[in-house]
Amino acid sequence: MTRNNQVREPNNPLPKQWLASERSQHYVASYKPFNMVDGEGVRCSLYVSGCLFNCPGCYNKAAQNFHYGKPYSKKLEDQIIADMSEIYVQGLTLLGGEPFLNTQVCLKLCRRVRQEFGQTKDIWSWTGYTWDELMQESYDKLELLRLIDILVDGRFLETQKDLTLQFRGSSNQRIIDVPKSLAANKVIIWDKLIR
Ligand code: SF4
Repeated sequence: MTRNNQVREPNNPLPKQWLASERSQHYVASYKPFNMVDGEGVRCSLYVSGCLFNCPGCYNKAAQNFHYGKPYSKKLEDQIIADMSEIYVQGLTLLGGEPFLNTQVCLKLCRRVRQEFGQTKDIWSWTGYTWDELMQESYDKLELLRLIDILVDGRFLETQKDLTLQFRGSSNQRIIDVPKSLAANKVIIWDKLIR
């Protein structure tokens, strides 16, 4: 709350106002292999560093800093690929921080995942951008989107917080089927959504 009791809102960028090329330091906050909470099935999750949305109640405030953690490396990438090779791993998840403000890292990793595994593993990503905002964004963000299967979109809004939702913290956020949405030119929600 602010002093006059108004709820502070997250930051709202204009189209192309925030560019990964100007912001990203190519840092990674953490890497969590073999987890079952960052999407469907067993997943390997990369948390990139840096986010400008500054949502009140952010679940990972330390990772808003673009210098938090350590630089992304080939060694880490090779480890992620090796972990993902396990038959029981369903896919990769990108979180943050903001993956779409770290497109250099995320594009490199997602291209490698497609090169190594084709479509046999899936890619999920969280973002503070809404789908409509991403449609007006820079080429690198759209290129990353095209490599992703499932996108959880939108800022975390404390006024819409709901801990009963699948894979998201507030009810404005959506679990979006990216290939279907790009093909239909409108948001298509993940068909396994329960709540
Ligand atoms: S978009 Fe996500 S990482 Fe960024 S401030 Fe909001 S909750 Fe935190």
